[in-house]
Amino acid sequence: MSIASTVSPIAAAAGGSFLLESRAPAEVFTPEDLTGEQRQIAATAARFAREEILPALDEVEHKKPGVLENLMRKAGELGFTAIDIPEEYGGMGMDKTTSALVTDHLSVLASFSTTYGAHVGIATLPLVWYGTEDQKRRYLPKLASSEWIGAYALSEASSGSDAMNIRTRATLSPDGAHYILNGEKQWISNGGIAGLYTVFARITGPEPGPGKFSAFLIERGTPGMTIGAEEHKLGIRGSSTCPLAFQDCKVPAANLLGEAGKGHHIAFNVLNWGRFKLGVACVGSARQALGYMIRYANERHAFGRSIAEFGLIQRKISTCAALLYAAESMIYRTSGMIDACGGQAPDEMASKGAGKPETDGQRGAIPGWLDEYAVECSILKIYGSEMMNVVADELVAVMAGYGYVEEYPAERCYRDARINRIFEGTNEINRLIVTGWLMKRAQRGQLPLQAAIRKVMDAVMEPPSYDAAGGADGPLAREAGALAAMKQISLFAAGVAAQRFAAGLEDQQEVMADLADIVAEVYALESALLRAQKMAAARRAVAPAAAAMTGLLADSGMALAEQAARRVLAACAEGDMLRTQLAILRRLARFTPANTVALSRKVAQQCAHAERYPL
Ligand SMILES: Cc1cc2nc3c(=O)[nH]c(=O)nc-3n(C[C@H](O)[C@H](O)[C@H](O)COP(=O)(O)OP(=O)(O)OC[C@H]3O[C@@H](n4cnc5c(N)ncnc54)[C@H](O)[C@@H]3O)c2cc1C
Repeated sequence: MSIASTVSPIAAAAGGSFLLESRAPAEVFTPEDLTGEQRQIAATAARFAREEILPALDEVEHKKPGVLENLMRKAGELGFTAIDIPEEYGGMGMDKTTSALVTDHLSVLASFSTTYGAHVGIATLPLVWYGTEDQKRRYLPKLASSEWIGAYALSEASSGSDAMNIRTRATLSPDGAHYILNGEKQWISNGGIAGLYTVFARITGPEPGPGKFSAFLIERGTPGMTIGAEEHKLGIRGSSTCPLAFQDCKVPAANLLGEAGKGHHIAFNVLNWGRFKLGVACVGSARQALGYMIRYANERHAFGRSIAEFGLIQRKISTCAALLYAAESMIYRTSGMIDACGGQAPDEMASKGAGKPETDGQRGAIPGWLDEYAVECSILKIYGSEMMNVVADELVAVMAGYGYVEEYPAERCYRDARINRIFEGTNEINRLIVTGWLMKRAQRGQLPLQAAIRKVMDAVMEPPSYDAAGGADGPLAREAGALAAMKQISLFAAGVAAQRFAAGLEDQQEVMADLADIVAEVYALESALLRAQKMAAARRAVAPAAAAMTGLLADSGMALAEQAARRVLAACAEGDMLRTQLAILRRLARFTPANTVALSRKVAQQCAHAERYPL
């Protein structure tokens, strides 16, 4: 079944263009635009989470043999492990919004969502995108039904972030029938329960050099492959994480995935989607954790009142709700753009030669959106995982004593949240990717960033064309002004940094990370604002809550952007030059803060009334 045709006709935009262009609310996809069929699928996933995953929570967390595999099999029976696999290989070939929805609503127990996420994402999609016809026919139906669980094995004991530096080696046997693998892999999700492993190794031959970075499909039980003991982890304790060892492991030559020497395309392209999905899983987990927080705050009494009536508890609830609202808005905006591309890069970029589907010989096309939306995917990974950490931390704070003991969900939630900032590329690495990707696109002429920076630099002495200082009228006008200001600040800071460091900017990691943070805040605020405006136009009952959360995000976003930009400027200049630049920044950042106390109380009261995240 394919429901791609039922997705709203939302405009596909070039990746990263949110920084340079304005969008109308109607142009972005929001969760309110979901079709009836998508809502039904989301409800089925939520029911599965409630009726199957949560009742098995203790058994999963204590690794009772077979329980996790059984849950995966049941998820397979409902089609949840077949969503991204084409119909001809036993899948459902659904759109990416539906794929995100299922992950979102299944994410109520991080041990399960890690298992599910690794299986349907980084373990299965390399085969969908790069497999030969024979490989797809042999393995995809088994993965679609989850008869076999998949694993993705890139990291090694001595190379995690530095993935190109892997030491696992493959040599072709003299008769050309097999590759012989030697080496080891570390921290492999689903390692102990998988039936099929996508393993990365360098093919070496008689010629000197590091060898060709390549991917292999290896079945469980292949002689020479050993699965090590389960790791004892801080969180996601119910998930399987194992090392793998290969000693003269004979892999049929027909199981080379993609072309020899192009394994890094597979490894990194699939990680873009993995980052997107990790952001989605964080949204699902945070929605559930916020629900616990709100209900607990309503029920717990201190000093003769429900603690939900205390301003400081309200601030915690509203902060978490606003961050979740921003992450959720970005997620579905991005999935809407991917679906609007029909799985390929946006037309205008493709016509310029950018983001064109990369072809791998006769082995099919890799969707152009994988690279096109790399910056949005990294932002979602960073923002989603850090949002989830705030929510988990505040859940412990609100539950206090009960938050700290194992019997209640806060303790597990707190431990489980931490891994999201580590895997799928650490948040440090993803911050470098955001700024590095934008710079690369600009240098290649694929994103008119340099022209936009020049325009801002030329106009710095003129009054800003937006009004974030409180003069503008109308609902959400202040927030729209803040967004315009943040875009100008990001371009100004990027311009100063580019002038100062030129090609050496890559070595200024602190500056790169500050720029990435401002860019992420821009995407978050714009996605939240456009959704709030869309809701207001449709006169939805929850529109005031969305507007209030957008108000909170505008204040926190402006504060973060100004502070990060100040650090960037101070790293680039000194003396009179710095003073002039800081004066420009102050003009760009003229902004009247809202009464965030009132906004926070309003959001928290709506949460308390709804007894959950109110949207
Ligand atoms: C529970 C779990 C499940 C996992 N699942 C999988 C899996 O299924 N498949 C798989 O292949 N891997 C998996 N991993 C591995 C994971 O992807 C790596 O741990 C991660 O990429 C970081 O690598 P590392 O641990 O070697 O840290 P390192 O790369 O050694 O990094 C250490 C620190 O240095 C920082 N750092 C590194 N390089 C730079 C740089 N250039 N600039 C600035 N800072 C830098 C990092 O951000 C980090 O803070 C998993 C890990 C865990 C813990």
